[in-house]
Amino acid sequence: MKPRLDGQVALVTGANSGIGKAVAMAMAKAGAKVGINYVVNEEATQAMIDEIKESGGEAIALKADVSDEGEVKAMFAKLFEAFGTIDILVNNAGLQRDAKFWEMSVGHWKKVIDVNLTGQFLCAREAVNEFIRRGIVESVSTASGKIICMSSVHDVIPWAGHANYAASKGGVKLLMQSMAQELAPYKIRVNSIGPGAIKTPINKDAWNTPEAEESLLTLIPYKRVGEPSDIGKAAVWLASDESDYVNGATLYVDGGMTLYPGFATGG
Ligand code: NAD
Repeated sequence: MKPRLDGQVALVTGANSGIGKAVAMAMAKAGAKVGINYVVNEEATQAMIDEIKESGGEAIALKADVSDEGEVKAMFAKLFEAFGTIDILVNNAGLQRDAKFWEMSVGHWKKVIDVNLTGQFLCAREAVNEFIRRGIVESVSTASGKIICMSSVHDVIPWAGHANYAASKGGVKLLMQSMAQELAPYKIRVNSIGPGAIKTPINKDAWNTPEAEESLLTLIPYKRVGEPSDIGKAAVWLASDESDYVNGATLYVDGGMTLYPGFATGG
């Protein structure tokens, strides 16, 4: 039986493209009411809401920059006004601003840390306040709340040319683990998903030509590039009571990218 999220409210950040979109749609399909956070492209957000409603689900659009404290607070207020509470937060919004280390501007450094790391802190803090205020609702879930941090294989694999991104995801790893440790007594579960290479706009150059894809596959023992739906399925399971004893874990959904593929034939 597939995991279900009936009667639960989920907020997915950066949810109108790529991985966030797949996660939001999968959660809606599993029965959750979904808050779809976005910063740009209102039409794509509305199209998702229409699709969810046509299938009998519920969703609302929540425009907010996750790195802005005021906008995050306003987003949660709007979510509570519509759906009353929150049960699942998926901290997915993220971006890259790549540069050689010695040429990286402080602006690009700060932008990536602000969105990828501070954004996760700001959203998690609002969600945790509500989880603690409301406590467990037994008919809904065995936990009082679940947080899924979208990390990356680059929370363990260093990444030349992407020092700001790798630093932000390394930060997410210990933010997630520290939250998991501190919040477990309140029955709040906090975990990460570490995607490998997933076909989305963020890494299009790495897979949108046959040559690029072939080169990328040398890093993936399972020999296929991931799809956003691979992450959607993992997120639904991590948010459901099927994973009730999983806390403080990073689930790498990466076709084995974290397995040091270079050592398969050498070492
Ligand atoms: P994407 O570019 O399709 O999605 C990122 C989303 O975040 C977009 O909707 C974007 O508008 C949104 N966003 C950016 N800045 C924001 C802000 N300030 N506030 C709110 N939303 C904002 O890329 P994706 O691949 O779907 O990325 C989703 C997450 O997955 C990111 O955290 C990324 O680091 C992570 N990830 C992706 C891959 C991959 O291979 N695609 C691998 C590892 C990790």
